Amino acid sequence: MVFPRSVLVTGANRGIGLGLVQQFLKHPEVQTVIATARDVSKAEALNAIKDPRLHVLPLIVTCDKSIDNLVKEVENIVGEQGLNLLVNNAGIAVNYSTKGEISRAKLHEQLDVNSISVVLVSQKFLPLLQKGGAKSTAPDFTVGKSAILTISSGLGSIGENTTGSGFFQALAYRMSKSAVNQFNRTIAVDLESDGVLAVAFCPGWVQTDMGSAKAELTVEQSTSALVDSFSKLTKEHNGGYFRRDLVVLPF
Ligand code: NDP
Repeated sequence: MVFPRSVLVTGANRGIGLGLVQQFLKHPEVQTVIATARDVSKAEALNAIKDPRLHVLPLIVTCDKSIDNLVKEVENIVGEQGLNLLVNNAGIAVNYSTKGEISRAKLHEQLDVNSISVVLVSQKFLPLLQKGGAKSTAPDFTVGKSAILTISSGLGSIGENTTGSGFFQALAYRMSKSAVNQFNRTIAVDLESDGVLAVAFCPGWVQTDMGSAKAELTVEQSTSALVDSFSKLTKEHNGGYFRRDLVVLPF
């Protein structure tokens, strides 16, 4: 099992992001956890965690200036060691099904948060991730070296889409997650020579504001499985799309 020396989780003030932060902090190998929130002053759950390894910083993923500011702050925190792991977790779900109506602005927002912003956040953090990889003595293509992990969704699978928009009214959400899956596979190929691992995950149906109280899994069940899987990743997983327990999902 390999754990990152440093990790950044987006959208970490509640739900799966918060759960991931709590899981990472259980591992002493993890020395720096950067948790982002849109409004740090309202991130009560994060601010209540008293652990010197945790840094709570602002990030609005759809705002370029916010991303640039975060890169500078993270640079100051991690210094010459760079960053080992970026977890793209922040996301929204805009309800829309084929026979419904939706505005262009709402469609843009769905794709902006879940797909476009993942591209831009990853791009801006790439130099720090490359630095992290160069400084780390962990095995290649592990989260201890240099990795971009994306919290996608099983609803992003085109191969498994037999339910259409379904109960979740997930037409636009499905599109945003399929796009991010393609991003994941493409960067995995493009960055292979740089030694950066890229993997997409479905966390399962989880009891969060997005998943609702009716969901199958608690945040603890989902995120403990995810962090366990992250620690087992190797080159054979690069570019892949997996359930939280590393079972392969069809693209
Ligand atoms: P929540 O709605 O509970 O939390 C979403 C998080 O994303 C919040 O921290 C929110 O911040 C943040 N966020 C939203 N928009 C932005 C933005 N523009 N900039 C920065 N942060 C933003 O969702 P979950 O925890 O359930 O979802 C986390 C990820 O898991 C998402 O990518 C989701 O698609 C995916 N997922 C979830 C499933 C589930 O069943 N819950 C199933 C499959 C995938 P704020 O509090 O400020 O709004």
